[in-house]
Formats: sequence, structure tokens, C-alpha cells
Amino acid sequence: MDRQQEFVLRTIEERDVRFVRMWFTDVTGTLKSVALAPAEVEGAFEEGLGFDGSSIEGLSRVTESDMLLQPDPSTFQLLPWRGEDQPTARMFCDILTPEGQPSLADPRGVLKRVLEKAAAKGLTCYTAPEIEFYLMKSAALDPQTDEPVPVDGEGYFDHTPGGVVQNFRRDVVLTLEDVGISVEFSHHEAGPGQNEIDLRYADPLQTADNIMTFRTVVKETALAHGSYATFMPKPFAAHPGSGMHTHFSLFEGDTNAFFEAGAEFQLSKIAGHFIAGVLRHSADMAIVTNQFVNSYKRLWSGAEAPSYISWGHNNRSALVRVPLYKPDKVQSARIEYRGLDSAANPYLAYAAIMAAGMKGVEEEYELPPVESDDLASMSAAERHVAGHEPLPASLYDAIRAAENSEFMADLLGEQVFTHLMRNKRADWEAYRKVVTRHELETNLGLI
Ligand code: GLU
Ligand code: MG
Ligand code: MG
Repeated sequence: MDRQQEFVLRTIEERDVRFVRMWFTDVTGTLKSVALAPAEVEGAFEEGLGFDGSSIEGLSRVTESDMLLQPDPSTFQLLPWRGEDQPTARMFCDILTPEGQPSLADPRGVLKRVLEKAAAKGLTCYTAPEIEFYLMKSAALDPQTDEPVPVDGEGYFDHTPGGVVQNFRRDVVLTLEDVGISVEFSHHEAGPGQNEIDLRYADPLQTADNIMTFRTVVKETALAHGSYATFMPKPFAAHPGSGMHTHFSLFEGDTNAFFEAGAEFQLSKIAGHFIAGVLRHSADMAIVTNQFVNSYKRLWSGAEAPSYISWGHNNRSALVRVPLYKPDKVQSARIEYRGLDSAANPYLAYAAIMAAGMKGVEEEYELPPVESDDLASMSAAERHVAGHEPLPASLYDAIRAAENSEFMADLLGEQVFTHLMRNKRADWEAYRKVVTRHELETNLGLI
């Protein structure tokens, strides 16, 4: 029993915790939870908690369905929305095989492996996500429009006295602070009922855990306010989608490895190689950064979502953006990946972006020229000359790109790769059978 585990057991006793939730995710990033009686926690630390993995999407083949959950004591946290009285706590878990080895089907394990590889080279990464989502009046669709109904009609940075989303965001931010997640900014986004909340940087594993907690807090708070929150990438054709732009920085010891004083945009050679790696593998990894049919409606709708593979400085149509250098923030440099959407599995998406960047660094990929023009207003010929390939145009294209990618197969390992592809092919098959309202409206009167 280590000190963190002892701390957890002591806190359970002192605070009279009645339920300890074991949290983990399936291959698509859906949160899974099993509640443990307090008396069982010590055993779970020592031997893991057995469960049937075959019923969880992507976890194991039926023949090896017995799996173990190993709670990570550093993630122990009381859940304030379950009340002070007879409290409930949670811990994120790693998934182990019956032999006690890390399971190769665990998305959290995929990210851990990438981070261990970086650590072996003396590199630490930090990630800060900007999470966008819509707040709807309910999960029901308006029968007239067939669309969900947003809670307000406000827009970017709007501050309306008495506005419903102000109180909502306030409650979300205070709850997040209660569970140890620091928030840097929160504001109304451009779409009606759309919000953005930006978390403070942390290492990628902690950030991914924070995103899972964030989604739960947002959904719980919405329900408490009589509304419904969605992280769907593009709920309205006429309004912007919900992105999860993430800022990355890389450190060697205490030194920001992306920073070089006096260089263009203060970017080091390592930063250049990292960006080049991320760009080169962005199409292969779209299957995890943009994993749903609907993700491609966001990517191809304009509205500040990237459709082409390029990088830029103050260019919001670029896939990778290097934010403004702040002279007062000495020796700091970071990059923003704008492709990600709010419905990604954060463990797999961060693993992919990190691994792509690291590959660029290892193999010294050459950084393509910076793009300062708006990609959307360039002609196809101009984009071609500038070398800006499109991101996948649909989930089908993303599946094809991932299927042919050695990078993705190596990154995910056979089990996650096979399960993810099976899951995504099923998504695509289901979608392509649907006859849409658009087809009826445009084709019914044909010929
Ligand atoms: N909502 C936009 C997106 O889908 C991002 C807007 C912004 O730059 O914050 O990526
Ligand atoms: Mg935003
Ligand atoms: Mg941003």
C-alpha cells in the first residue's frame, strides 16, 4: 500500500464516503462507471477489480472477457454534485489483463505509452483545451424544424443581464474548481446557446482525465438547470460547430523546447519538426480527432473550423496555429491544434497528436511554409500550389486514411486499432443507409 492509497482509504473513512466510483472509458471515449462499496477499495488497490470487459465497446474479445480495473489513487476526488451527505468519490482506473499486465485495449494506456516514450527522451508535454459545447432547452427536437432548441439567441462574448448561460457557466466553473480543475476563461461562443470553457494546462493524461470530468460536470449542471448540454461537433447547419482546440507545449526539464528567442514566431527547430509531424499525420489521425459522421460536417462548414492541412500564425483557418507571442511571457511558445472536436476520445486524440509531433521531431520532418491567407477564400488551384491537402471530407475518407496508416496501427496497437475501425465502419454503414431530408427536398421532384 503506497502513501497515496493510504490517503484515499483514510479520506474515505474520515469523510464517511459511501460510494467510490471507478471511472474508465471505452474506445470512443464514453465514460464508464462502477460504484464500489468503501470496504472493497483496499482490495481493488491490491488486486484490481474484476469486471466483464466483453460488454464494453472495444475492450476485449469474448474469449478474454475477464479484465481488471486498477484505480489510480492520484485521481481520487469527492463528487460535489452527489451531495455532502454520504458523499460519493471517484477514481480513474487503468485496465489490466487477468495477469495484471496493462491491457492493450485501454485508451488511457495508449496515451500513457506515448507519454512514457516522451519521458524516456527527457520530454514533458503540457496541454490546455478550449472546450466548446451547446446548451439546449432539452434533448428533444423542435417538431417544426427537426432541430434542437438552444437556450438563448446570444452570440460571441455576449453578456446579457439575466442571461441563462451566465449562471450556468458560473456553476460549472465553481464545481470544476471544487474537483481540482482550474478554469482560465469562459464565455458565450458564436452560436446560440454555445459556450466555451478553457481549462488550465496540465500534462496530457491529466488533461484527458479533466476533460472526462468536465463533460460530466457540464451535463450534470445542465440537467440541474433544466437544460441539456451537447458536445456534438455540429448540431446546427447554420451555426458554428463545437471544437476542442488544444494548446501543446513541450519541455526539456524546465526549458520550453518550442521556444527560441529571435527565431521566426519565436519557434525552435523542435517546434517546427513537431508541427510538421502533426500536419503530416493529421489525415491519418482524423479518425480519433474527429471520430463521428457529424465531425466532418463541422470540418467542412467553414465557421473557423479547419478543412485543409496547413499552419499559420494569426490564421484561424489553419489546422495548426501559433498563437501571438507575448513578450512579457518570457521564453514561452506553444501551438494550437484546431482540428479536434469536442466529441473526441481525449486519450486517443492526445496520444495521436503527441505521437505525430514526436515522430516529426525524431525524424526531423521539414516544416512546410507558413500560410497567412484565409484557406477558405483561396482557389483550389492556389491551395494546390501551396501544398495544402484537404483533411478527410467524411468519416469514410477518415476510415480509409487510418486503414492505410502504419503510424495509426503502431500508435493504437492491434486491439484498439481493430476495435476502433470496426466501430467506425459500423457508424459509416448506418449513416450511408439513411435517406436525408436534404435528398428528399432536392431529389423528390427529379426527372
Ligand atoms: N467553433 C469553432 C470550431 O469549430 C472555433 C471558434 C474559435 O476560434 O474559438 O472550431
Ligand atoms: Mg472558441
Ligand atoms: Mg482557439
